[in-house]
Amino acid sequence: MNKSKPNILLIYTGGTIGMIKDHKTGVLRAFDFKHLLKRIPELQLLDCNIDTVSFQTPIDSSNMNPNYWVQIAEIIESNYHAFDGFVVLHGSDTMSYTASALSFMLENLAKPVVFTGSQLPIGDLRTDAKENLITSIQVASLQHVHKPIIKEVCLYFEYKLYRANRTTKINAEHFEAFASLNYPDLAESGVHLKVNHEHLFKPNLKKPFKVHKHLDNNIALIKLFPGISENLLKNILSTPNLKGIILETYGAGNCTTEKWFIDLLDTTIKKGIHIINITQCSGGSVIMGHYETSELLKKIGVISGKDITTEAATSKLMYLLGNNISSNMFKTMYETSLRGEMS
Ligand code: ASP
Repeated sequence: MNKSKPNILLIYTGGTIGMIKDHKTGVLRAFDFKHLLKRIPELQLLDCNIDTVSFQTPIDSSNMNPNYWVQIAEIIESNYHAFDGFVVLHGSDTMSYTASALSFMLENLAKPVVFTGSQLPIGDLRTDAKENLITSIQVASLQHVHKPIIKEVCLYFEYKLYRANRTTKINAEHFEAFASLNYPDLAESGVHLKVNHEHLFKPNLKKPFKVHKHLDNNIALIKLFPGISENLLKNILSTPNLKGIILETYGAGNCTTEKWFIDLLDTTIKKGIHIINITQCSGGSVIMGHYETSELLKKIGVISGKDITTEAATSKLMYLLGNNISSNMFKTMYETSLRGEMS
C-alpha cells in the first residue's frame, strides 16, 4: 500500500447499502464488495487507499447480535496497526446498537471507526448510499501530521457525523434517519467538511488499545406504561440468570410510587440485580430525586442512566456485566461516562 496516503479498511456487514437491484427482476441482492472500486469509480478519486472485507454472509441488521459485534471488533483488532481508519457498512435498523456496543468494546481507540449505511441501495438512481459512503471514507481519512483527527466510534448519515453512542434511529423513511439529541454533531458535510474539534472524544493516548469481547446479554429492557401490571413485572424480574435491567421511565426519570412497584424493585436490587433508570424521552436526562416519584428509586439504589440512549444503555450494561465489575463498583462505573456516552 502507498504509505503517503491513509489506509482505510471498509468492513461490509450487510444492510441495504450493499445491495443492487437486478434490473430484470427488480429484486435486491447483495453486492460483491471485491468489485467495489469498479462499481463506484468515484472512490478512486479519494485521497486514500481502500481495502475491503466482508462478512461471509452479509446480514440484515435486524439479525444483529453480540456475536456479530465481536466479529466486527475482531476484524478491527487484527487490522488495527495496518490501517489508519475503518468504515463499517451496516444496516440502519440496529446501527446505533452495534456502533454503541463497539464504542465500549474498543477501549483507548486512537483511530476513527465510522459506521454508515443508507436508506436506498447503492445501485438505486436516487440513492443516499454514495454520499454516505464517500464522506464516511473521507472522515476516516482525516489526518493532522499523519495522525487521525477522529479517535472514536462515530456514525455518519445524511451530511452529519455523530458520536455513535449518542445516536438513535428516528425515521424509517427519511434520508435523515438518525439523531443525536443529547450531544452536538461531530462534523457536518456541506461545501466543506466542517469538523467540530471541541466536541471530539479525546482518549488517553498513553494507554494501549484494548478489545473487550465478553458481553453478557442476561439483561432486560422494560418500558413503563400507565397500567403495567404487577404480574407482568414479577414474571420478567424472576427470569433465571437475570443480571441487569434497563428501566425506561417517564420524563426526568419518574415512575409510579405504588408500593408493590417500589417493593418489587427493592427486592430485585437486594438479589444483586442491577437496575438502571433511563428516560423514555428522546432528549433530556434522568435526574433522580428531582421529583418525589424518582426519589424512592434513588433510595433503594437504582442506578441513574442520566442522558444515555437506550442503545448505549443496553450495550453498556452488557459490557460492564461481561467485565465482572464488583457490585459496589458497578453503580459508580455505570454512572461514569466511559466513552462520552453520557453528559
Ligand atoms: N433492514 C435494513 C437493515 O437494517 C435496513 C437498512 O439497511 O437500512 O439491515
